[in-house]
Amino acid sequence: MAQSLIRNVDVLIVPEVGECRVDAAQDIHLADAVITAIVPTGTPPPAPTAESKATEPVELVDGTGLLAVPGLINAHTHSPMVMMRGAAEDLSIDDWFNQRIWPMEVNLTPERVRVGARLACAEMLLAGVTTFVDHYFHADQIAQAAIESGIRADLAPTYFSSAGPEAIDAAIATARDLATLHPRISASLGPHATYTVSDDDLRRTADIARAEGFRIHLHAAETEAQTQASVDKHGATPIEILDRTGVLDAGALIAHGCGIRDADLPILARHAARTTVATCPKVYLKLAMGNGTPIKQLQSVGVPIGIGTDGAAVHNTLDVWESLRLVALTQKHQQNNAEWLPLSDALRLATRHSAAAANHPTTLGALEPGRQADITLLDLSAPHNQPLHDPRAALVYSVRASDVHTVLVAGEVVVRNRQLTKLDLAEVLAEARSLAHTLVDLTQGGAVQHYAP
Ligand SMILES: [Zn+2]
Repeated sequence: MAQSLIRNVDVLIVPEVGECRVDAAQDIHLADAVITAIVPTGTPPPAPTAESKATEPVELVDGTGLLAVPGLINAHTHSPMVMMRGAAEDLSIDDWFNQRIWPMEVNLTPERVRVGARLACAEMLLAGVTTFVDHYFHADQIAQAAIESGIRADLAPTYFSSAGPEAIDAAIATARDLATLHPRISASLGPHATYTVSDDDLRRTADIARAEGFRIHLHAAETEAQTQASVDKHGATPIEILDRTGVLDAGALIAHGCGIRDADLPILARHAARTTVATCPKVYLKLAMGNGTPIKQLQSVGVPIGIGTDGAAVHNTLDVWESLRLVALTQKHQQNNAEWLPLSDALRLATRHSAAAANHPTTLGALEPGRQADITLLDLSAPHNQPLHDPRAALVYSVRASDVHTVLVAGEVVVRNRQLTKLDLAEVLAEARSLAHTLVDLTQGGAVQHYAP
């Protein structure tokens, strides 16, 4: 077992409840991929194993002057959509889907998806994201990009009912393959949404999920208008559909949920142990989707809220710091209460709750012994963070992705001194630029789906 060390680093401690704090000048001891101890610099870790006595730990990183935080988790995204960054602006949600994105997705090929996913992995790692929770086509290609880059990913191969039963079977088969592919890759089942996947197909998805231990990642109740349309067409809210088809019973990550109504809350309360919701507020602001995710109401029934970016075709970045900041700001605005969602609670969403959304609630999301060594080290010395009266305030309100200095995933250094260690960034960028025009080509005709919830 390889013993290693991040020496002399300040450490953000995020408890399950109560105030977050920063412990100064700590050594983080690792054994392979796992944190074994966090102790004041220079003191021996408690109860060393026979092996660790025998060998001095290797110093992986000198953390002097840096702050260690749990690696960020992008709780909902479509990583290859970085290839459409800036190509669908100033549009209603209907036109965004029907005039741009779903016609563009006719152009998807395995190679284009892989190239986009490599760019996305590079962007996320350099911004301190160590895990992303993805929902997209050709997920096997996304897995290859993730493995190559060193990032961790939970991947849900996307399907629509309109693509037919063979396409659904193929997506589920991909999820089965991904589930056993690599220690840093996990899989979820990925029906697109309650308005693009039939109740029968949702029921079949839930049956497979229960039988084989999958979690289901899908879009539901994205806006209040979608919820009303669902009630008008089916006599049920999207959450009621997830309940009656067994999706909630199997366990679900619900993207957005901005249209979740108070009447849905008792249903979600019954399934709170297996339900998480991902919120991506920049998207709600940009597409004028009305109120964002009802975080306060969902928390009141015990549903964890993860923070995501959604795809860069609308969010423009995969920067979870930006998302975290917008969650805090929009929540205060929505509740008309400057005291709501204080620093420690906002940081808890970005760490422990996002780990639950990634389906790794006990192994990610906190720096403590027994958890995976997914660690982001920040340099807060830049003018926009100084003077540093409260590092927690910097993390929520002033830090930038470019303050990320070094990143570890599963104990491996994947960004060192602001440089990727496993991907050639110049090559990743050149490849993406050379193919970008093929993704946004609207001359092919057709669309992968039509938005009419
Ligand atoms: Zn999405």
